[in-house]
Amino acid sequence: MRIAIDIDSTLHHYWDVLSASAQRRFGIDLPYEEQYDWGITRLRPEQLHACVEETHRAAAIEAAEPYPEAVETVGAWHAAGHFIHITSHRVDTAHTATERWLERIGLAYDELYCSFDKVSRCEEIGIDLLIDDGPLNIARALERGIISATIAHPWNRDVCEEEDVICAADWPALRERLAPLLARGEAG
Ligand SMILES: [Mg+2]
Repeated sequence: MRIAIDIDSTLHHYWDVLSASAQRRFGIDLPYEEQYDWGITRLRPEQLHACVEETHRAAAIEAAEPYPEAVETVGAWHAAGHFIHITSHRVDTAHTATERWLERIGLAYDELYCSFDKVSRCEEIGIDLLIDDGPLNIARALERGIISATIAHPWNRDVCEEEDVICAADWPALRERLAPLLARGEAG
């Protein structure tokens, strides 16, 4: 299969990083449990932009720690012959730092793509399965016939309940839930 995997809140717990930035810069708390929608209402758009920009600087990108079993799971899929496309909603200048991070954590992948329109790229390169926590990306993928899966977060709870999304609490559960699909799908 051809698998696309998001980074923030999919491969690592981005929320803590973003929340720490909001606290430091603006003194605003963003409790994880209360983030029911990705709109992040406690920050004004320009404040959110500043926090995201800060968390996507090289040092912050490279300091991220992956979720338990994420690297091992993706590595096993890659070793089984599945194509791994890493996709992140990041500016192109974050590409090199992201590449260094992927190398540091030892994630096996075929290509990395930083852009603001992940799903179009997925469609272009024939992705079969997108793993992404963002409700909008999940909806867009489903619209285009791409199978959708995610790590469960407060902001994708509704989508997980209402849409045909493979949702799991963590990477070991996700690996288990995706196993039948990956076994059926051809490698590559
Ligand atoms: Mg994400």
